[in-house]
Formats: sequence, C-alpha cells, structure tokens
Amino acid sequence: MTMRKISIFGATGSIGQNTIDLIRRDQRAYDVVALTGGANIARLAADAIALKADIAVTAYEERLPDLRAALEGSGVEAAAGEAALIEAATRPADWIMSAIVGAAGLAPGLKALEQGTTLALANKESLVCAGGLLMQTALRHGARLLPVDSEHSAVFQGLVGEEISAVERIIITASGGAFRDWPLEDLQKATLAEASSHPNWDMGQRITIDSASMFNKALEVIETKEFFGVAPEQIEVLVHPESMVHALVGFRDGALMAHLGAPDMRHAIGYALHWPERKDLPVARLDLAEIGQLNFTAPDTARYPALQQAYDVMQRGGLMGAVFNAAKEKALDLFIAGQIGFTEMAEVTAAVLERMEAQSGLIDSAMTLDNVTEIDHLARQEAERAAAERR
Ligand code: NAD
Ligand code: MG
Repeated sequence: MTMRKISIFGATGSIGQNTIDLIRRDQRAYDVVALTGGANIARLAADAIALKADIAVTAYEERLPDLRAALEGSGVEAAAGEAALIEAATRPADWIMSAIVGAAGLAPGLKALEQGTTLALANKESLVCAGGLLMQTALRHGARLLPVDSEHSAVFQGLVGEEISAVERIIITASGGAFRDWPLEDLQKATLAEASSHPNWDMGQRITIDSASMFNKALEVIETKEFFGVAPEQIEVLVHPESMVHALVGFRDGALMAHLGAPDMRHAIGYALHWPERKDLPVARLDLAEIGQLNFTAPDTARYPALQQAYDVMQRGGLMGAVFNAAKEKALDLFIAGQIGFTEMAEVTAAVLERMEAQSGLIDSAMTLDNVTEIDHLARQEAERAAAERR
C-alpha cells in the first residue's frame, strides 16, 4: 500500500488532536510531512516525533529555540513564524488539514490549495473572509476542498449523488450553547468561565465561546453559502439541544435528508480523511430508542443578534465577510481579556459593520489576499475603537 502524505495545520488544537488520534490508529498508512502549532511546544514536538514528521512549525518566532531543543536528535526539522507556515504549506502532500483557528489560517490554506492538494477545511474563518478566493484558487489548481465543520460535512454527505439545483434549503443545527436556557437579562453578566464550557462538544476555547454567543453559527451560515453556493435565503438555522442531527438538506420535492451522529468531530474529520470511501471510525453509535426524543426550536433572535448580522453581511457582499470575522475575532479577544462583557461582543461587531459598510472603495475591492488582510486589520482597529467608546 502506498503511504498517503499528509500535513496538519493547527495540529496542537482540538481538531488537530482529533485528526492525530485517527492517524495514530493506522500510522503505517500515513507519511506525515508537516505539523504546525502555536505555544504548546511540548505537544507539537511530541506528536512530530511520534508521527515521524519531516518538519514541525510553531507560529511564534520567539519559540524557535524551545522547539529546536524539544526536537533535538529526533531528525524532525524545526521552524517558526508566518513565512515558515507558508513554506510548510508548499511541501507536497496528498491531504492537508486546515485547523488553525481564525483568519490566520487563510494564507497557509491558500498556499496548500496552490499545490493542487485536497484541503480538509476546519478553518471556517478562511471561507468567511475569502470564500470566493479559496474556491477560485482550488479550481485554478485542480485542488479539492472538503468540509470538516460537522454541519457542513453533514450537508456534503447529504448531497452525494444529488444536483445542487435540486436543493431547496439547507438547515444547519445549533446546540444553543452554554446560555441557551439562561434568562436574557443575565447574559450580559456571563463570565469567561461560564462561556468557555459547552454542553455537548469538547472544542477549543474560542469556538466554544462563539457557540454560546452564536457567532459560530453566524460564521457557519456564511460558510454554507460559500461552500455550497446557495443563496442566503435558502439557509436556515435550527436550535437542537441534543446536537445529534447536524444538518438537513431540503430538496425541491419536499424531502428532507437529515444527518445524525454522536457529537464527536472524529466523524467529520474521518469522513474527509477517507473520502470518497467510508471507513470504520471510533465514534459512539446512536441508540435512538434509548435517546427517545430529539428537540428543535427556532433560534431566538433577541438572544442571538450575531445570526442576523451574518445575513446582513451576506446581503452586503464584497469583503464584508472579512470585516465581520475580524470584528468578531477582536471582540472575542476583548471579552477573553475581560475588557468587554459577553453581550457587548455583538454590539461591537454591529458597530464595526455599520461603520465600514459605507466604505465601498474598500468593501468592493477585489478579493485578493492583500485586500482581505488589509480590511481584516482595519476592522480590528475599528472594533478596538468601538469597544473603547463603550468604556
Ligand atoms: P484550538 O484553539 O483548539 O486550536 C487552534 C490551533 O491553531 C492550535 O494548533 C494553535 O496553535 C493554532 N494557532 C492559533 N493561532 C494561530 C496563529 N495565529 N497562527 C498559526 N496557528 C495558530 O481550535 P480548534 O477548536 O481546534 O478549532 C480549529 C478550527 O476548526 C477553527 O477554525 C474552528 O472554528 C474549527 N472547528 C473546530 C471544531 C472543534 O470541534 N474544535 C469544530 C468545527 C470547526
Ligand atoms: Mg460546526
């Protein structure tokens, strides 16, 4: 059997570690090229050594000496910084996992696509910021994008053998996050610790907080539009507290195809890893008779203002996705730093969207990496200002 060359960007994170868990169960099938991470040097080095990677890269230049020391004598090359991440993405691989969190995943993802590889995309922010650019780059270089977000993997699976023109609507589900049942007036006092625990999924801290605020679902609505090329009005969100139905595809004949599974990201990662085949995966099997009942409700728009913002962003078009994502990332940084409250995150993004919407020179400029990077920077500054004005 020929070994598949693979790389994992964001290997030390939640998605990265779940990917490594699957790889390690069948290690002889894979030839690991690059693993990348951030500040967790011990984890990065240990995995790079265990998987016999060619190179390990930390995003932080100042951590290069630590990474070198941790890899001493192992034969694994050490590198650091943004340029090293880009270089690692040019190294030939058959399958690359894009699991860096945030807009920082965009440039390496684009580079990976330029080598015509299969890119498993967990990094939804890159689609929100520059969906058209990613899709065009994939097309131009004969590369393939596979969804890893659980909802999008579910939709993708629901579309096997179907024409996209037969699709009437796509429904993605949301657990409702940590504060689904909280009285609305208590939300503004929600603490970082409270927002950082998810009822169903075990994920990185940022996406967990984004689930509580529904910013995660807001990004996923835009991700759905970019990935599947459907119109915003065809995309619906349904609150489903059990997180077992991940998405539903509604067809023109009224049929609704649902995808069910345990809330375990190794299903979506494994589907992308083995696609177009299906292989055994170490995920729990659902016993529906035991579960007995599944619940669905419409999202409460007052509780989750981020959702409407996503539809406004799609309506405006251009580079508004990059503005929205960057404002959200900055607002989240400020919440984590204790500088703004939980409900103020959506107030900050609303202010940034409103202020930048009118700047058509910027918003309607071409979707290039440079323009997206510039607008990302400006939106973060605007978010800082909007937050400062509140204090
Ligand atoms: P995480 O915080 O656990 O891990 C993030 C990874 O990115 C780490 O390896 C970290 O070192 C790296 N990283 C962080 N900042 C970086 C930077 N500036 N440059 C380079 N690398 C950097 O995050 P996660 O929960 O694994 O999420 C990763 C991506 O997958 C996100 O886009 C998230 O929205 C998406 N996603 C995650 C889940 C999940 O279950 N965790 C589910 C669906 C989608
Ligand atoms: Mg998701």
